[in-house]
Amino acid sequence: MADELHKILIVGGGAAGLELATELGKKLGKSGRAEITLLDAASTHIWKPLLHEVASGTLAEAEEIEYMAQAHRNHFRFLFGRMEGLDRAAKEIIVAPINNKQGAELIPARRFKYDSLVMAVGSVSNTFGIKGVDQHCMFIDTTTQAYRFQRQLVETYYIQSYANQSRQRDKPLSIVIVGAGATGVELSAELHEVTKLLATYGLEGSIEVNITIIEAATQLLPALPPRLSQATQDQLLKLGIQLKLGRKVTEVTETEVHTYDGEVFDADLKVWAAGIKAPDWMKSLDGLETNHINQLVVDQTLQTSDPDVFAIGDCAACAWADHAGNVPPRAQAAHQMASAVAKTIVNRLNGKAPVKFVYHDYGSLVSLGKFSTVGSLMGSLMGTVSVGGFIAYVVYLSLYKMHQVAIHGYFRTAMLTLSNLFRRSTHAKIKMH
Ligand SMILES: Cc1cc2nc3c(=O)[nH]c(=O)nc-3n(C[C@H](O)[C@H](O)[C@H](O)COP(=O)(O)OP(=O)(O)OC[C@H]3O[C@@H](n4cnc5c(N)ncnc54)[C@H](O)[C@@H]3O)c2cc1C
Repeated sequence: MADELHKILIVGGGAAGLELATELGKKLGKSGRAEITLLDAASTHIWKPLLHEVASGTLAEAEEIEYMAQAHRNHFRFLFGRMEGLDRAAKEIIVAPINNKQGAELIPARRFKYDSLVMAVGSVSNTFGIKGVDQHCMFIDTTTQAYRFQRQLVETYYIQSYANQSRQRDKPLSIVIVGAGATGVELSAELHEVTKLLATYGLEGSIEVNITIIEAATQLLPALPPRLSQATQDQLLKLGIQLKLGRKVTEVTETEVHTYDGEVFDADLKVWAAGIKAPDWMKSLDGLETNHINQLVVDQTLQTSDPDVFAIGDCAACAWADHAGNVPPRAQAAHQMASAVAKTIVNRLNGKAPVKFVYHDYGSLVSLGKFSTVGSLMGSLMGTVSVGGFIAYVVYLSLYKMHQVAIHGYFRTAMLTLSNLFRRSTHAKIKMH
């Protein structure tokens, strides 16, 4: 009788999709009321706001979750594969063939049926078609890219260290980050921390590193109030990070970054973190409406124009009630959207109306390395409160803890936190391999 079960297919197991699959697995999968399937293009999950720590090598390995094990524990099914198309008439998604590294096909293209489809594929960096960005910049949109960046970073440090020792080079190592949003700012602070740690660990041939952030806007962190943006700016300058605001990048080459006003920046490593878009293949998803950055347009119930197709997280364009524009692409929005759609799908099975999604902004926090966090917290009682230092750091950590609780429950989250604390006392604070 399994064929008669309502088929819920979730595409993308990130901040939104993995929480949704876990919740629906517990609510509907366990009791056999629905068949819940999660498809992801990767086999493991790391919460995306931690990727700058993966990229810099400072993240504890325990933060990675195997989808298959998570599915087994929480009564849903996991499928490995990359969605590339949709057939709404047949109510099927189309998944690309899987090839090995040599390009030989291991698994052909497949189709999977759904009764309710939830698109949760997140976003990628927007390069705005600027010359040389795709070829020469590194991105940290996915775990694979973050690990690739980390390997290149380590190699570059070793090469620079050798060159310094053997006096083959007398220039500092230059890292240019394009984009002064949370990703660029957090990554710059983390890279500063790494450089300090390497010196502490005594990497031969002292390395001088110049970190520069280039940003088209005249303020960094546009999502934060100007006072906090200024506080962040002061903090970064104190760390020795150079800020080049109001500069539009026009071209990236193998060794340089060029700006509109003719400035040229030397760059051994270049990272692109200047804005997001939903993946390009979403632009024409069997007639569903998308916006200028490929996000699926959804209404307040997070449904597209096809009521069987939902979109949540960064790939959804949902109007933000009483605000200009859409709900911002943030982890807290992904978390709240996953909860709302979980309720709606349970209601669907019970013949009840969908839940209206209302986004609550609890503020923005940016981590600037160890024990240094700035941001604003919002609440209906207290209005907007600026926070900094240790309090902000603790609140910042609690965002991740909320995700872990949604995935693992309270007990396992507490155990993981404890085991990480013990691990950190014996393991290196940075990964050099
Ligand atoms: C470095 C960095 C730092 C950040 N810091 C913060 C922060 O401090 N606070 C905050 O609120 N937000 C932060 N963000 C943004 C936040 O990470 C995102 O808003 C959030 O992860 C969006 O969740 P999501 O579920 O929509 O997408 P994701 O978490 O990106 O998940 C998407 C999933 O879809 C999968 N996928 C993609 N394409 C396909 C496909 N074709 N087929 C199958 N699966 C697919 C991916 O493998 C991934 O698992 C940060 C982002 C980055 C990159």
